[in-house]
Order: sequence, then C-alpha cells, then structure tokens
Amino acid sequence: PQPDPEAGAAVKAADRAHVFHSWSAQDLIDPPAVAGAEGSYFWDYDGRRYLDFSSGLVFTNIGYQHPKVVAAIQEQAATLATFAPAFAVEARSEAARLIAERTPGDLDKIFFTNGGADAVEHAIRMARLHTGRPKVLSAYRSYHGGTQQAVNITGDPRRWASDDGAAGVVHFWAPYLYRSRFYAQTEEEECARALEHLETTIAFEGPATIAALILETVPGTAGIMVPPPGYLAGVRALCDKYGIVFVLDEVMAGFGRTGEWFAADLSGVVPDLMTFAKGVNSGYVPLGGVAISGEIAETFGKRPYPGGLTYSGHPLACAAAVATINVMAEEGVVENARRLGAEVVGPALRELAERHPSVGEVRGTGMFWALELVKNRETREPLVPYNAAGAANGPMAAFGAAAKAHGLWPFINMNRTHVVPPCTVTEAELKEGFAALDAALSVADEHTE
Ligand code: PLP
Repeated sequence: PQPDPEAGAAVKAADRAHVFHSWSAQDLIDPPAVAGAEGSYFWDYDGRRYLDFSSGLVFTNIGYQHPKVVAAIQEQAATLATFAPAFAVEARSEAARLIAERTPGDLDKIFFTNGGADAVEHAIRMARLHTGRPKVLSAYRSYHGGTQQAVNITGDPRRWASDDGAAGVVHFWAPYLYRSRFYAQTEEEECARALEHLETTIAFEGPATIAALILETVPGTAGIMVPPPGYLAGVRALCDKYGIVFVLDEVMAGFGRTGEWFAADLSGVVPDLMTFAKGVNSGYVPLGGVAISGEIAETFGKRPYPGGLTYSGHPLACAAAVATINVMAEEGVVENARRLGAEVVGPALRELAERHPSVGEVRGTGMFWALELVKNRETREPLVPYNAAGAANGPMAAFGAAAKAHGLWPFINMNRTHVVPPCTVTEAELKEGFAALDAALSVADEHTE
C-alpha cells in the first residue's frame, strides 16, 4: 500500500483530540496510526510495516484479515446483522455447538458475553449462586479483566487503583519456579508446596465460605507460567474435596494459543466453568463466553439465571466464531502452533538466551512464550521493578523501541517480553522476528550488571 502520511496525521489528530485510551495517562501517549493489516503484519501510514509478535493483545490467533472470516462477517451482516438474545439464531446456535464440541468434559452449555472480563463476572456469579457461598480464591500474578469484579480478582498491579477490598476475594500463590514463593528447587517441590499452600489457604478461609477458585490455565499477561505436571489436577482434587467451583480462565490461553484447542487439554483437567474470548473469533468482532458443566447448568434448569447482556451471542460475533473455528480446523492452525512452538520457537529462544545476558528465563508452549529479562542472571533481579509503572520504565522501553526499529511489534509487560505471534505464523516469519529480537535484546543487555 502507498504511504499516506497526511491521512495518518488526520487519524492521529482526531484520536488525540477525542479518543480516551485504556490504561494510559492521556497526555503522555502517542498511539501509532494503523493503515492496514494482513496475516502476521500491520503497517502505518508512513509505509512502516511491523511483524506482530503480540497478536494485538494476544487475540489474532488466525492473523489479520483472514478472507474466509471477513467473508463470513460480510455474509452475516447482509443476512441478519443483529438480533435480540432471547431468540434461537443460526450463527449463535452453530457457534455454541462448535465451541461445546471442543471444550473439555461436559462443558456443553455456552453463555455468550461481549469479552473476557464479563465472562469472568458471569462465571463468578454462577459459582456463587450454585454454591450459595460468597468468596472467590484467585492467584497473585494473574489477570482476569478490567471490570470491577474481574479486576479485583486480578492478581497484579492493574488491580490496585480499583481495589475496593471486594468482599471475599482472597489471593494465593500459584507455582512459579523461577521466582518460587516456596523455596523450591524442582518443579515437583514447587507443585507439592503450592498445593499445600492452597489447601492451607482454603482451610484458614473456611471451605464453606468459598464459592469459586479461578485460575488462568496458563497465566498470560502475568508471565506465561505453564503449571508443573500435577498442579491443575491437584487443584481439581481440592475443589472436589471442599465443594468449590473450579473456574479455568482460558480467555488468553484458549483457542490454539498453547498448541491445543484449550490449555486445559495439556493436562486433561476438566473445570466446572471455563471462560473464553479473544481467540474464539480472533477478535474480529467482540465475543466472549462461559462454558458451563452439566451440574451447574442444571442449577439454572428450573430457576432463572439472573444475568444477561443485550448482545449475548451477537450474530456478527458468532458468525465470526463459526468461520474462525472452521478455518482453524481446516488449516491445522492448532497443530501449526504446537509444531512450530516446539520445533522452532523454543529452540530459537533458548539459543537467544545463551547469547544475551539480559535473558533470565525462557518458558512457554505452542505460540505462548515469555522471555524474562533480568539485570543479573545470578540474583534474577528483574530488569525493571515490579510496580504499577511496569514496562514504562527505561530499559524495557528501550528494548521495545529497538524491536520496533527493526520492524517487530513486541508484547511487553513488566520485565518480560512475550513471543505471542498469530498461531498461523510461518517459520520464515518467526525467523525474521527472532533476528529483530536478537538486535533488541542487545539493547536490553546494556542494562545488565
Ligand atoms: N482473562 C484473561 C486471562 C485475559 O488475558 C484477559 C484479557 O487480556 C481477560 C480475562 C479480559 O478480557 P477482555 O479484555 O476481553 O475483557
């Protein structure tokens, strides 16, 4: 496409005048103007093209502008652009069927929401009504969404500004061997001690007061900590023992990201409720939802579920989900993420770690990887402090600027960069991205001791 700086300037001017952006000090940001996107790339009005190693906010699992999904949205718009939620609508029925077919166990009923946070809100409401108990347990180092309940469940600094001391939200520590809270040396120790800590937390909070325990199956923004073998099964067993509803949040980890349809498939653990959004239709139209077990669905069999949304199961969003899921199945997108993750991404990142002293740890699976950047590999001191300012701090900003100068759009949170390209990414694109990452890590290296 031809560069058009004048058009870009107009887009930017109206943005700066009128758009209020998420999570930002409005006067201190300079949002780049996007002219277009395709596959793994997007470009600006000045003719600069970026390889998107962030998949937007980790949602374009099939890449940008997939022609079949775009066509399905156009077709749905021409047929039935919208309809109220209390009706049976073809796109909604089919999306629910395709999702239920893939969710683990008996999670066969789908409540559609507009995104991830409201899916979490509803999962918690269902759990409270199902159990008649008030409290929710969730992990530190987690993100569950920006609405009031979801952000209070969240276990990172994004909660602090909105923390209302929400009745009944209790945080615990999940496994994270690299920064173990349990003085563990091995994954086995980390797993056993994290489970012991969790059971003690449940005992001291009072099992009969706890409605739900929510975990990201693989924590996403908080650092991509793939749980050690046995951890999720151990949590499942504790939830069974104490009658607690087990909610897995697959908003980021679901729909191919981990190289499985759902991250729960990595361990075979079946939750009682599972939240999803993002990858369900690669974010082409806002959509999220809760997949519900038979037992919880039964609770609302004769008794009304007290909750709803005007756009629950919006036809455009559901048509996009149907097309996305079919594309993923036809084109082997999940398998691509699994194979390239294991054969290309993992080895390449470990090779970069060997050469760059700023890389403290490489971890991940599928198209879901984190590089943890440190000042010092021995002490593991993070390259920037863990606080609300996070990655806005100098060295990570310098790292990000270097990546962008080399045509790579990175995902950055705190002292980490995540390698989360579309699950449709090719080997050649990955190699191009790693070359840029190599250059950017040299900038991070300058901040090590
Ligand atoms: N849960 C997880 C695990 C997420 O990663 C996110 C968003 O990043 C959310 C919930 C919130 O989703 P949304 O931004 O669509 O409300």
